[in-house]
Amino acid sequence: MVVKEEFDLIVLGSGGAGCAAALAGADLGLSVCLIEKDQVLGGGTADSLGTIWIPNNSLAAAESLHDDHESALTYARYVAGGQEIPENLEAYIREAPRVLDAFLGMGVGLRLAMGLPDYFYPTGPFSCGDGRRMIEPEPIRRDALGPLANSIRRSIHNVQGVSWSDSVNWGGFANRRNWPEHEVEERQRNGELGCGEALIAQFLAQMQKRGATVLLSTSVKELQYEGGRISGVRLTDDRVLRARRGVVLATGGYEGNNDLVQRFEGFPEWMNPFGPQNAGDALVLGAEIGAAIARIGVNNSLFIGAAVPGQPDAFFSVGLRGLPMPGAIAVNQNGERFGDETQFQDMVMAFQQYDRKARKFRNVPAFMIFDDHFRQRYPVMNAPPGQPAHGDIVRSDTLRGLAEKIGIDAQGLESTVARFNADVEKGEDTVFGRGKSAFSRNNAGDRELGRNPQLAPIETGPFHAIPLKMGGVCSAGLLTDAAARVLDNHGKAIEGLYACGNAAAPTFLGVGYQGGSSIGAGVVFGYLAAENAATRR
Ligand SMILES: Cc1cc2nc3c(=O)[nH]c(=O)nc-3n(C[C@H](O)[C@H](O)[C@H](O)COP(=O)(O)OP(=O)(O)OC[C@H]3O[C@@H](n4cnc5c(N)ncnc54)[C@H](O)[C@@H]3O)c2cc1C
Repeated sequence: MVVKEEFDLIVLGSGGAGCAAALAGADLGLSVCLIEKDQVLGGGTADSLGTIWIPNNSLAAAESLHDDHESALTYARYVAGGQEIPENLEAYIREAPRVLDAFLGMGVGLRLAMGLPDYFYPTGPFSCGDGRRMIEPEPIRRDALGPLANSIRRSIHNVQGVSWSDSVNWGGFANRRNWPEHEVEERQRNGELGCGEALIAQFLAQMQKRGATVLLSTSVKELQYEGGRISGVRLTDDRVLRARRGVVLATGGYEGNNDLVQRFEGFPEWMNPFGPQNAGDALVLGAEIGAAIARIGVNNSLFIGAAVPGQPDAFFSVGLRGLPMPGAIAVNQNGERFGDETQFQDMVMAFQQYDRKARKFRNVPAFMIFDDHFRQRYPVMNAPPGQPAHGDIVRSDTLRGLAEKIGIDAQGLESTVARFNADVEKGEDTVFGRGKSAFSRNNAGDRELGRNPQLAPIETGPFHAIPLKMGGVCSAGLLTDAAARVLDNHGKAIEGLYACGNAAAPTFLGVGYQGGSSIGAGVVFGYLAAENAATRR
């Protein structure tokens, strides 16, 4: 393909943030070039559940579901727990409804994802219990993308063609055995996309209609910074692409860059949950021209995961789909549980506890433990229920044998499981209160169970163990203002440079993590970046 050398807007990264910026720019009449370093589009967003948290939105209003700016802002501040950038958080809450309407107006298929309550419902002030703030993409067929039909990253987390609200309506992930298999198969035959893949496809389809240029497998060596403003990018083959109005860095975080992970997260067991190319390029490109980097001190927007059996580099978020299902627990080296496994944020905090006397992280290493009844009834990672356990999964006929194989305290594990099973009998987790979150019950509870849909005994051998890892949305990114402009170390905007998504410092994450707010912030600030760039001369 012959590529033009000059555009109005150049966007690096094709996740939710980059696609939103590119589409918004194209819709505002800018000539846009979307550059993706990977061979496929979508980054971590394509692998995600693809939900966007948009409070006070018009889709809910049309269903007479009330919300308002002040309530949403109060809840958002509660979630962020003082770790937010206040002006940016306010901009998110203020602008998100307008951005949603703008994308709907462009033809991006988005709908309410009812059944996915706010994470902190009912404890968070003004939290909503029904999903009125949660938006998800409409399903879209792969062939709507013409030449890019096969260029979207395949998700390892999601069942192809199934949206998150489908899974909630079908009884949640723990009810996978009863999902309508024929319908799922037909959707897959038709190339129907759901969740994060659908979100990327929805943006791309509209981008194509507006003539945006999309470059795959293209790497940028440096930003062109001349006369105090960004004027383009230099590619690794030394070609310079000029950007008349601006460059948007939407390159995701540094989850795949072990040096940066160790520098900013400082955590020993880490896996990259997103795309292989998320190497912190925005930090490097920005820092080279004096951009400021900001970090939040308390980051619970991390996920508990595990390597997919047979794919040691592929992170599967068992914190969302595994541990919250009835009959799975997490234990540390003493064989003890250390949190409510249905609440991944509690588990993330527990993972980060450091034992000063032992001079190690208290709950590292840790393992997910489940029995054979679990394997038969629920999906084990991305394998459907009932499949034989993959050879990489450690197994033993007894709990004691399992503990010996994975090197943890056998007596500790036996007494933990005995206590857990006694609590299951009572229908109440007396240690950590498992099964109380509305979000988690809808997502991963087994509605066929009695009193507590997230409790089942661990008693049928063979028993299984999977080592747990952490990964997630990183704590640091480029410091941006409420229009997504990148700031320098004096707090001054760098002319023509924008950052959004995980390339930017977290706005709304921190003590809490509201599902949908990560892609949500990327999409909202991606739009605002393009809008600001469109006003530049
Ligand atoms: C299982 C799971 C489910 C999740 N579900 C949700 C959810 O429903 N809602 C939500 O809000 N969050 C969710 N998240 C978190 C969310 O997926 C990510 O935080 C979000 O997608 C990040 O978006 P992004 O656009 O910033 O980055 P990404 O989507 O990771 O995209 C970054 C892109 O930039 C590319 N890139 C990197 N360097 C360069 C470069 N130099 N030049 C060009 N391109 C480059 C990468 O290859 C990649 O394609 C989930 C996470 C997990 C693990």
